[in-house]
Amino acid sequence: GAGTFVHARVAPLGDKHVLLLVEDMTQARRVEQVRRDFVGNVSHELKTPVGGLALLAEAVLDAAEDPVAVRRFASRMQVEAERLSALVKEIVDLSRLQAQEVLIDPELVDVEDVVDEALDHLRVAANAKGVSLADKCADDLYVLGDHTLLVTAVRNLVGNAVAYSGEGTRVGVGARLVGDRVEIAVSDQGPGIPAEEQGRIFERFYRIDAARSRATGGTGLGLSIVKHICANHGGDVSVWSSGGHGSTFTIRLPAAQETLAAEREPHERE
Ligand code: ADP
Repeated sequence: GAGTFVHARVAPLGDKHVLLLVEDMTQARRVEQVRRDFVGNVSHELKTPVGGLALLAEAVLDAAEDPVAVRRFASRMQVEAERLSALVKEIVDLSRLQAQEVLIDPELVDVEDVVDEALDHLRVAANAKGVSLADKCADDLYVLGDHTLLVTAVRNLVGNAVAYSGEGTRVGVGARLVGDRVEIAVSDQGPGIPAEEQGRIFERFYRIDAARSRATGGTGLGLSIVKHICANHGGDVSVWSSGGHGSTFTIRLPAAQETLAAEREPHERE
């Protein structure tokens, strides 16, 4: 097709035939472009906190005679350094996820455990904001995958729901079986996401409102990480939101109920 780049190789095969190998390089070029954009984005995103730290260090030096000011600048340096290290961790996580398209050694994961663990991480933050957390998981829901990665995915969604919600609102997490899929839905009563932004928020470093997002401590990588984790598990993530009435993010993963039944069977036959 237009813009397609084909790479052909001829390999001898016996004395009468040759093997013609035709590779579509479009995919390879796209991967290379994605990698280059990523490196560009990363250096851009790192400049802000690193620049901030440099300015604060300068302020500390200038204020050396004023211990109160030194303490104030030093504690801001601490916050900035923590943010920087969270950003670096997410960048590393995301580049690992991008490189590894299929999971090695998936295990049977209990979805309720995943949700419980994700919520445990966010109780303190939710309490501090006056946001209530509620969960409703069906029993015996299983998927094949990586427990830790799935906790990260759910935690990122619940973390956003809490971060973008106002005081006195409710964040709900539910999990259920729909056909052959496990659905984990996270809904909030926050500002919602305009229709024209819904496709873009899963892109790396994309934020609807950079200033607001930075104030909430966001990196713009959270949803991109969720998207990659879901893809690695053979599933996907989507958002539903209409006109300022909150948002619902839904993760859909292939259910492993049958795998579980097969694993149980030998014991039951004993
Ligand atoms: P961030 O670290 O900025 O939260 P994400 O990738 O997690 O990055 O999210 C991308 C953007 O999507 C956010 O900056 C925010 O604008 C928007 N967003 C994500 N979750 C929600 C939500 N629950 N309610 C409103 N906006 C959201």
